[in-house]
Parts: sequence; structure tokens; C-alpha cells
Amino acid sequence: MSVNQHYDVVVVGAGPAGLNAARAAAQAGARVAVLDDNPRVGGQIWRQGPGHAPKAPLREVHAALQAYPNVAVWSSVRVVAPLAGRALLLESAEHGGMRIGYGQLILATGARERLLPFAGWTLPGVTGAGALQALIKGGTPVREERIVIAGSGPLLLASLATARAAGAEVVAVIEQAPAASLARFTASLVATPSKLMQAAQLTRGFVGLRYWSDSVVREARGAGRVEQVTILRGGREVTLACDRVACGYGLVPNVTLAQALGCALDERGAVRVDDTQRTSVEGVLAAGECTGVGGMELARTEGAIAGWVANGAPHDLTTLRAQRSRWQRFAERVDTAFALGAAARALPPADTLLCRCEDVTIGDVQAYPHWRDAKLHTRCGMGACQGRICGTAASTYFGWPAAQPRPPFQPAQIATLIEAGESASVQAQ
Ligand SMILES: Cc1cc2nc3c(=O)[nH]c(=O)nc-3n(C[C@H](O)[C@H](O)[C@H](O)COP(=O)(O)OP(=O)(O)OC[C@H]3O[C@@H](n4cnc5c(N)ncnc54)[C@H](O)[C@@H]3O)c2cc1C
Repeated sequence: MSVNQHYDVVVVGAGPAGLNAARAAAQAGARVAVLDDNPRVGGQIWRQGPGHAPKAPLREVHAALQAYPNVAVWSSVRVVAPLAGRALLLESAEHGGMRIGYGQLILATGARERLLPFAGWTLPGVTGAGALQALIKGGTPVREERIVIAGSGPLLLASLATARAAGAEVVAVIEQAPAASLARFTASLVATPSKLMQAAQLTRGFVGLRYWSDSVVREARGAGRVEQVTILRGGREVTLACDRVACGYGLVPNVTLAQALGCALDERGAVRVDDTQRTSVEGVLAAGECTGVGGMELARTEGAIAGWVANGAPHDLTTLRAQRSRWQRFAERVDTAFALGAAARALPPADTLLCRCEDVTIGDVQAYPHWRDAKLHTRCGMGACQGRICGTAASTYFGWPAAQPRPPFQPAQIATLIEAGESASVQAQ
């Protein structure tokens, strides 16, 4: 791979949105590169790993891309900064620092889990719900482990199914949403039969499982590793013995690169796009969960629209637009059903860690009026994860707007930064 290449269309993210964007963009002959920081394509939902072979929809779109001579798929490559003049600074373990130039850029960077701190959330054995799935797909053995899955949203059920398939004993699923919301949501699934079927598959063997609505995790305890978790259920505390706790409160759009490029965000904190998936920045489109969390079907439909728009060839988007509207309505129903309630948003005790990279507690930051002040005074968000976890939690608790990212987004090698050339060539902040 040369260190300095140019493509007509560059797609960042090889999940359902990015892969479908790349396929659509390639169909009119554009030179397309799709890159992702994971070693294998698929993004979150189609994540591959030992014992997790690619699913049929991934195989189909990946095979289609491989058949195009004008498409390059780069894995294990991450974007660490935007550069001036429609270019990105990349880093890979194999090739080090690289630049890639683009005519059109499609952001398909997906979403992240929202982790909300509770006492003991940094104990070994405590992860996000989606993170548990990623670990299992990545080969972490959980056979016969007792797992409590908690937080909110449909991802809990996906984690339940993955954990059970891997031989774990799921002790309980703890959902913060009230039972009435869940009942309304379940009834609404008749409008999307494929989702109804998926829910039925994920909850197979549900009978006998503790599925507690209106409940939140209060504390995890253990000597060196989680051994117990205390749940607040109907005003009462219940303690369960377990080997793992997987707790995630839904997803938030991953807008780091979009923000660094100057793309406007909407009121939900997602990348604002128009009807053709164009962002507010010329030459930059966005698709999938970075534009709003809505699931795989919405992501791949938006990806296809973005790909066709980016390649510039005339194409009738009527069917894709109708599909997008349908899945957007489904996303709105998910949002309403799993909206975070007061118990989930309740501030944990002041001595609870908020920033686990820099050991900063809730009490340390709570006196400050906004994220920037809190960060400058406490180092909150200045560690390895650059505020991706604690910044989202702080927004949830204090209503602070999302922190503006500063490239490099992740720790990068000095050689990579040198590759970027003069610091003046890094896109102005
Ligand atoms: C941890 C987790 C697990 C999930 N599991 C499920 C599940 O089992 N079932 C389900 O229905 N939904 C699941 N989801 C929801 C899922 O995100 C969507 O349904 C779907 O995958 C969204 O597709 P997407 O293409 O928008 O984004 P994704 O599939 O998330 O793909 C985005 C890709 O962009 C890459 N990326 C981001 N930034 C950069 C960068 N700077 N440089 C390089 N690459 C970058 C990411 O690593 C990722 O591979 C999960 C979400 C998360 C966060």
C-alpha cells in the first residue's frame, strides 16, 4: 500500500452502512476505498471472529465488493485525523502512517455504547452489553459463567442470545424501561415482521429467565473481580451472584471524525444529513448509525443512498428512500420505548469513578459548569479513550454538549504524525 493514494470515494467504516455505500459507489466505476479499524469487515452487528463465521448478508455484500476491480478494502486501518485538502491521516500496525485523498468522503463510523457508571463498574468482569458480545465473538470463553446483562435497549437481547449460544448462564436481564413501554413496543413490532421474527429468535428459551423491567444496576462488588451485583428493582435492592456484568444503556452515534471535519450535528448529537445523506460539509456524506441509531436495516439503506449520491451517476432513489422512511419510523419507536428514565439518569454517589482513564470521580467534576472546565481542572476525558466513555456519561448526567474531539483521536505513533507533515496541514481546529 502506498503511503499516499487518492480515491474518488473513500468510505470510513465497514459495517452495514459502509459496505453498502461502497458497493453502490462502485457500480458506476468510481475508484472506491473502504477502510475500518477492525481486522475483518462487518462492523458491530456482523462482527466476525473465531467461531463466528460471516453471516449471509455480510458474505453477500463482501463478495460483491471483491468482484469489483475498482474497490479496495483496507482492514486494521484507523483514521487518526483529517488533513487539509480532502485527505485523511491513517495508521495501521502493518503499514504505519499513511495519507489517503478523496473526492467524496462517506462517514459510516457507526455508534458506541453508552456506559453509565455505578459503584464497582471498573471491576474486572464488568463490561458493556455490546462489548460482551464483541468479546465473545472475538473468542473470550464464557461457558458456564453466570452473567447479568443490564442497561437498556434491544442490544440486551442480542447479547443474551450470543452469551447463551456461547454456553453462559444468563442469570438475569435488567432493563431500565418500564413494562408498559416494553409492552407497547412489542405490540408495535407487527409493523416490522422481520423484527418480530428476530425478537422471537433472540428470546427463544426466555421462559424461566429473569427479565426485570423498571430496574437498574446500583453496584457491582467483588474481591479483584465482580462477584455480585445489586439491582434496584421497584424501590427494593436485590443482590445477584455472578461472574460477569454486561451493562450498556443503548447507543450513541460515533461522530468523532464528523465533528473534526466540521460537520454539523443535530439535536440528538448525530451527524446532520439532508435527504441525500450529504452533511453540512461539501464533499462529505454520512450514513448509518453516526447519523442516528436505527439498526442494521436503516444503516444499509442509508449507505446505499450515500454510495449512489457520491458516485454522481443518475440513479432512481425512490425505493431506497421509502425503505429509509420505514426504518426511521422503527428507530423512533425504539427511541421512545427505551428512553432513559429517572433511575438510569440518577447521578451515582460522588465517589463513583466517571473517568476511568484518569481516575476522576463524579464528585470531582460536578462542581464545574461545562465539560471544558471539568476537563481542564480534573483531567477528565484526557486519558487513552479521549472522553469517549466519560464524555457521553457526563452529557447524560449534566446535559453538557458533546466534547469537541482533538486529533489524533487515538494514541498514534510519532512516525504517523510526522507523516502528516507540517502541523499546519492538519485540518484547522
Ligand atoms: C458494541 C456494539 C455491538 C452491537 N451488536 C449488535 C447486535 O448484535 N445486533 C444488532 O442488531 N445490533 C448491534 N449493534 C448495533 C449496530 O451498531 C448496528 O445495528 C449496525 O451495526 C450499524 O451499522 P453501521 O454500519 O452504521 O455501523 P457499525 O456496524 O458500527 O460500523 C462502523 C465501523 O466503523 C469503524 N470505525 C469507526 N471509526 C473509525 C475510524 N476512525 N477509523 C476506522 N474505522 C472506524 C468501526 O470500528 C466499525 O467497524 C451493536 C452496536 C455496538 C456499539
